[in-house]
Amino acid sequence: MSLDGAYDPDNLFARILRGELPCAKVYEDADVFAFMDIFPQSRGHLLVIGKASRARNLLDVEPGDLAKLIAGVQRLARATRAALKPDGLAVSQFNGAPAGQTVFHLHFHVIPRYAHEPLRGHAQGTAADADELAVLARAIAAEID
Ligand code: 5GP
Repeated sequence: MSLDGAYDPDNLFARILRGELPCAKVYEDADVFAFMDIFPQSRGHLLVIGKASRARNLLDVEPGDLAKLIAGVQRLARATRAALKPDGLAVSQFNGAPAGQTVFHLHFHVIPRYAHEPLRGHAQGTAADADELAVLARAIAAEID
């Protein structure tokens, strides 16, 4: 999907938000929802999405909704740092399929980086073990302020 187009209410993340599909949930409040990426690029890779906005990407979103979302990203990044003690933390976000976006509900990736560990591929490979993701989700959730 290019940068143009309509929001699909049945996209993967909308379905996860509605509870129609399972996920390893880390955090939820009135505005944001965070859960583990099922194809983690590193140990602890999670996703943060807005609950109300129907933005597909950064270009669509209302600034007020974006402000709440990015505050959530910072909160989850801080909790990830406290829980997993990575050496670095990447935050990424893609707009349109040619840029690497595969799910068209605005989201940010929080990706812990560990020294000397290469990043795994984006949205590919073997799905992570659900129990391992649940353990990581609980560890990160325990560090949220
Ligand atoms: P994007 O490619 O749009 O930036 O990010 C979408 C992310 O969703 C990818 O990192 C991909 O690994 C992740 N993903 C794909 N399918 C699922 C799924 O069923 N559950 C979860 N939790 N993540 C998924």
